[in-house]
Amino acid sequence: MARILLKDFAFLPTPDGPVEERSLVIEGGRIARIGEASELEAEVGRFDRVIEGRGRLVMPGLVNAHTHLAMVLFRGYADDLPLREWLEEAIWPAERHLEPKEVYWASLLGIAELLRSGVTAFADMYFYMDEVARAVEASGIRAQLSYGMIAPDRERAERELAKGLELVERWHGQADGRITVALAPHAPYTCGEWLWQRAVEEAQEHGIMIHTHLSETAQEVADSRARHGKSPVEYLADLGVFAAPVLAAHCVHLSDRDIEILAENKVQVVHNPSSNMKLGSGIAPVQRLLAAGVNVALGTDGAGTNNNLDMWEELRLAALLAKVGGDPTALPAPQALKLATVNGAQALGLEGVGPLREGMAADLIILDLEGPHLTPQYNLASNLAYALNSADVETVIVAGEVLMEGREIKSFDEAEAKARVRELSEKYKEIRRSRWD
Ligand SMILES: [Zn+2]
Repeated sequence: MARILLKDFAFLPTPDGPVEERSLVIEGGRIARIGEASELEAEVGRFDRVIEGRGRLVMPGLVNAHTHLAMVLFRGYADDLPLREWLEEAIWPAERHLEPKEVYWASLLGIAELLRSGVTAFADMYFYMDEVARAVEASGIRAQLSYGMIAPDRERAERELAKGLELVERWHGQADGRITVALAPHAPYTCGEWLWQRAVEEAQEHGIMIHTHLSETAQEVADSRARHGKSPVEYLADLGVFAAPVLAAHCVHLSDRDIEILAENKVQVVHNPSSNMKLGSGIAPVQRLLAAGVNVALGTDGAGTNNNLDMWEELRLAALLAKVGGDPTALPAPQALKLATVNGAQALGLEGVGPLREGMAADLIILDLEGPHLTPQYNLASNLAYALNSADVETVIVAGEVLMEGREIKSFDEAEAKARVRELSEKYKEIRRSRWD
């Protein structure tokens, strides 16, 4: 592994801290030293690579804490529909035609999009997850992967759980530890009690997380109250689900009691503003969650409901959406930046990943701060949260490996991934025509 010197950078070790002028030594996948360039050069000696600062910023990589990566294949396939109709009429029928190799190429394309927006780690829930894992392995990015289990009845639940556990056996801790695996009962309304309880037992036994969708729509909450006499959060709490560490996407419709339960049980919440806006689901109570002490991360959800995987756009939307209710002080820039970075690393349970300190993983990005839209600079966090865009991400380093440099992806052939997905989309154009024309 190369020994790299990042020389004379503006340095933001954690988004709510002050910016410093620093140089960093990366070695063995970690940040070995932080200091003055002259002192590090004298101390450490020779470097395999020196990357010069010159008006650029080093900060922690972004974490996309909830996505369905391979759904980039269905980008723009069906839009402007209610969630249930979108799933039942458009997406599920198309997904029935999916083949493993399609998931591989779509995942690789999705990773290209993630890297271009400065994402160094993501949490994914989908199927044919071996293919996603292979794409993660090849690309050098970090990921928490899970097979999305959908099983209302017991017989199907056993098969689904077996598939989820196979993924754990095959991939948890693989790719030099860059891959972790979670168990993913898709949602309270798509999985029965047996599956939920077994998933929790297995998660505890393997020391892994549960990844799910929770309280996404008002309809989901109303159905849960009608069926169980409880909100989805209360229902999972009473089933004992929160005995395992849980990553819960959406959490849009929450009562005060729900928020207390999430806080007490240290449930990791993922805010998905684009998806919630596009599906008309509502606005997640991010301020109330943060005030209650809940760790809130940020995710794009799948490209089917977003329609891109641009985490800078997501960050800006989160900061703006928090204010729509009438409070312009809600989710200020530094806090929004935390949601997209260090909170995400914590939400995924990534040990030694997050703030850029000596000994932490070298998961970081280099941003060009020289663009007209970033000039002048009074307050760095404000420029980052409200003015920067993904095209300003120049370089992405994960576990000490340079995956993108000068906006060129180094670890795989992005052009090939694009060409393959374009080719694969022909099949789905046919399917789409046969259903709707
Ligand atoms: Zn989702």
